[in-house]
Amino acid sequence: MTDYPELIEHYIGGRRVPSLDGSAVDVLEPVRNTPYTRVAAGKAADVAEAVAAARQAYESGPWPSMRTRERAVILNRIADAIEARGARIAEMEAHDTGLPITQARGQAARAAENFRFFADVIVASGDEAYSVPGSQLNYVTRKPIGVAGLITPWNTPFMLETWKLAPALASGCTLVLKPAEWSPLSASALPDIMEEAGVPAGVFNIVHGIGEEAGAALVEHPDVPIISFTGETTTGKIIMRSAAEHLKTLSMELGGKSPVLVFADADLDAALDSAVFGIFSLNGERCTAGSRILVERSVYEEFTARLAERADKVRVGLPGDPATEVGALIHPEHHARVLDYVRIGTGEGARLVAGGVVPGELAGGNFLRPTVFADVTPQMRIFNEEIFGPVVCVTPFDTEEEAVALANATRYGLAGYVWTGDLKRGHRVAGAVESGMLWLNSHNVRDLRTPFGGIKASGLGREGGRHSIDLYTEPKIVHVALG
Ligand code: ADP
Repeated sequence: MTDYPELIEHYIGGRRVPSLDGSAVDVLEPVRNTPYTRVAAGKAADVAEAVAAARQAYESGPWPSMRTRERAVILNRIADAIEARGARIAEMEAHDTGLPITQARGQAARAAENFRFFADVIVASGDEAYSVPGSQLNYVTRKPIGVAGLITPWNTPFMLETWKLAPALASGCTLVLKPAEWSPLSASALPDIMEEAGVPAGVFNIVHGIGEEAGAALVEHPDVPIISFTGETTTGKIIMRSAAEHLKTLSMELGGKSPVLVFADADLDAALDSAVFGIFSLNGERCTAGSRILVERSVYEEFTARLAERADKVRVGLPGDPATEVGALIHPEHHARVLDYVRIGTGEGARLVAGGVVPGELAGGNFLRPTVFADVTPQMRIFNEEIFGPVVCVTPFDTEEEAVALANATRYGLAGYVWTGDLKRGHRVAGAVESGMLWLNSHNVRDLRTPFGGIKASGLGREGGRHSIDLYTEPKIVHVALG
């Protein structure tokens, strides 16, 4: 394709601008790893300009004080504008990230849904009052927190950007978005979308660039009271340390190593479908991936064999091909890291029962056959470390207690999946698995009203529904004595 911008620029105060010092870095497409465009590499000075524009829009502009109904109308127009460009956004996303096009289309649709959803949430939100009749009236108002800093990862860039943009805008914040440097393309569609929808200049700003430069400058900026971050646990810790200087509000959605517990009495066909989807969809590059499958010993060999068979049938191919189920991983560095884990797993003595190889016909790109390791033990690195690719570990267990202990044996606690025909046990285990979210006999279905996020090394805080609005607003209580 040739119709991508030659340079993906920042968007500051309603204008598309290069970096002040002119710097930019190459962006690779993951099928051949050839640079196909460049992205502006923002530094502290660019971030300062964007924050100043956002601050000015916050202090003098109509956005924070606009009636929520009016803001909701604009949010719905953003959704319309995304839907009108849905096919193009999906095509950009597949080209830039290597996600299969059919899945990228689903992500674009979900992006529009994020705006429609938060338009409804904000209209339904209101202030609270607590009164003691005749003597006291206490009321709580919520005010947008100010300029929000949104830092997002490369795995499903457009969807995750909108997952933060929609509630921040709905709440009346102005903002600076820092997209991931490996996947800046789809964000370049946002300025047109915002302008078409009528978002005033300065409310929405983008600074592109390297995490340690542009991202760090946003975290360190004193006029940005909140950072909402999705990315790696190690980066989250760095951000927390520097955000402490200004006691910033933080929301952190970090890594995971989520367990799928399969008991012998489960509907094994459904559990298998879910296991395949849970690790191989979105190339396995998803924080909630079910990357450790724990199976009761009496069905362990059968389940593992069926999983391997299914993995072997998954169609790995070009991201733009509608038949593709697993595309290319984002970047050669990440590809090398995932391939390293295949070597590590083999070296640790895990039994490779599917995949583990780069398909010959796709050599040169970041491809990997869906990979299944069996007989994985909690001592192995592949059991404990987030791989973020189409690689899954299978481990047997004998008792419910052992299953729960294995599920909880990593430092992560994002998601969990439990499959059993015994509902009492299902609820017991659902409560015992250490995770922010748990799916019982179900798939990765989401209700956007529910709190999304993790515990332990998987994060801090929750987003979704009113939890997002709470994040982007500050409560103020006013006590009034009536007598
Ligand atoms: P992932 O590899 O999943 O993208 P990262 O944590 O590396 O996870 O990156 C997520 C986002 O955080 C990206 O936009 C990246 O540029 C940004 N980032 C990386 N390092 C820092 C940092 N030190 N401070 C702020 N942002 C950062």
